[in-house]
Amino acid sequence: MAEHWADRYAELIVRRKGEKKLYVCASGITPSGTVHIGNFREIISVDLVVRALRDAGKTVRFIYSWDDFDVFRKVPANMPNREGLAAYLRRPIVHVPDPRGNESSYARANEREIERVLHRVGIDPEYIYQSEMYAKGVYAEGVRTALEAKDRIRSILNKHRSAPLPSDWTPVSVFCASCDRDTTSVEGWDSAWSVSYTCQSCGHSETVDLRHATGVKLLWRVDWPMRWKYENVDFEPAGKEHHSAGGSFDTAQEIVREVYGVDPPVTFKYDFISIKGMGGKISSSLGNVVSVEDVLSVYQPEVVRYLFAGTRPDSEFAVSFDLDVIKIYEDYDRCERAYFGAEEIGEKKRARQRRVYELSQIGGVPERLPPNVSFRHLCNLLQIYDGAIDPALSAALPDGIDLDACDDDARRRLRTRAECAWNWIRNHAPEDFRFSIRPPDSEPPALSAEERDAVSRLAGAIESRFEEFSEQSLGELFYEIAQQAGLEPQQLFQTIYRVLLGKPKGPRLASFILTAGRDRILPILDQCRRNL
Ligand SMILES: [Zn+2]
Repeated sequence: MAEHWADRYAELIVRRKGEKKLYVCASGITPSGTVHIGNFREIISVDLVVRALRDAGKTVRFIYSWDDFDVFRKVPANMPNREGLAAYLRRPIVHVPDPRGNESSYARANEREIERVLHRVGIDPEYIYQSEMYAKGVYAEGVRTALEAKDRIRSILNKHRSAPLPSDWTPVSVFCASCDRDTTSVEGWDSAWSVSYTCQSCGHSETVDLRHATGVKLLWRVDWPMRWKYENVDFEPAGKEHHSAGGSFDTAQEIVREVYGVDPPVTFKYDFISIKGMGGKISSSLGNVVSVEDVLSVYQPEVVRYLFAGTRPDSEFAVSFDLDVIKIYEDYDRCERAYFGAEEIGEKKRARQRRVYELSQIGGVPERLPPNVSFRHLCNLLQIYDGAIDPALSAALPDGIDLDACDDDARRRLRTRAECAWNWIRNHAPEDFRFSIRPPDSEPPALSAEERDAVSRLAGAIESRFEEFSEQSLGELFYEIAQQAGLEPQQLFQTIYRVLLGKPKGPRLASFILTAGRDRILPILDQCRRNL
């Protein structure tokens, strides 16, 4: 059996559906707001299975359906011009204007934003816009089939309802041709293509032909299985909320079998994602929701994929914004080194890690181990360089590796990682982890005579022989100076940190001083020396 869950699902799809020329994997959502990280789990789960099928030599169509013909039910809290938007309630979201005025509609604005973000994590499905599909009349046959089977569908749905649907229930819903609202009741169907309705809002009534009508759609629980049939869907996972007994997935399976006469897609249930350590920094524009973009502000795209590829979809996990971020980057880096044989982790583990690494890559696996810098080290360097990315990266890269000489992909990985590290430092890192170099013209800390003597000795050494120091020899010098000045080593370290950073703790001192350089360190030490 395959090592990785995505490969096991790919095998299952082929076993259940048989050998086919084309496999269709599907995902979709209503573009009614920003897609949060929980919804993202669905689309990346499909993407991983799509890759697994393709790696097994299969041809795959990966479709993502935007349900932009859904009704605009409620104005989200994070929208500008909420009052103006309220006038569009009960209309299809594809007809609601973009409150920010950038796109042709509110739905399109949400779709665009998410399509861009998904591309950044290497996900490029074929997007299907439900509003266009219904308007083109391509679902007319499927709608008619649902109307013909409406009593069968009603009894399937009723099995799971405490209050049964009324006998005049219909599987279609109609947007009024006059006022565009779905406040209509369907009053008749001629057993063929004609449906008549009356609008409760404006009183308009009309008989429309399903093949040409632009306002008729199926209710969601029926629309879903109709599309499985229309697109020949072989695989579609769903969240816990749809996968409960009698939930929409259950009823869709029954409807697709009994009404549309085909087998339902292979599926699995994916679990929730929780958020850890975001603190008060949850993006206020989104209310209490963490978007994929929030996650991408801290995790480079490969590491985002790694989080999901490395976890089985049926287990709950937390996306962390606290110190765990460092550990996750370290895990990813170990996985990368294991892939290229640069770290020994045992054969069994290695096979799985190799697959997780492959599935985490964007635009193919690098040919050789790409140049890399630990996230923790970058965090320190960026603080020394006040967030300047290229100087920090140049200082971080091992001798002999030049940022400008790296290939485009390696440079993109490094720069993105550095941007993430800087975002993390500014927005999420614990206070202990953060520092900035104290400007030499700010108020100096109060020092005892011994402490001042120690600072003066260190300043002298840095002034006269900075170039000679290695991390080790500078480290040894601290102990020498402490002894000469009559301080405990601990006291000496605290003193230097207070002088340089204005707080008693900081990053490893010798490496910090060597990286920051004489020109930045000496004026600060000098200021405290002059006060002698
Ligand atoms: Zn109307």
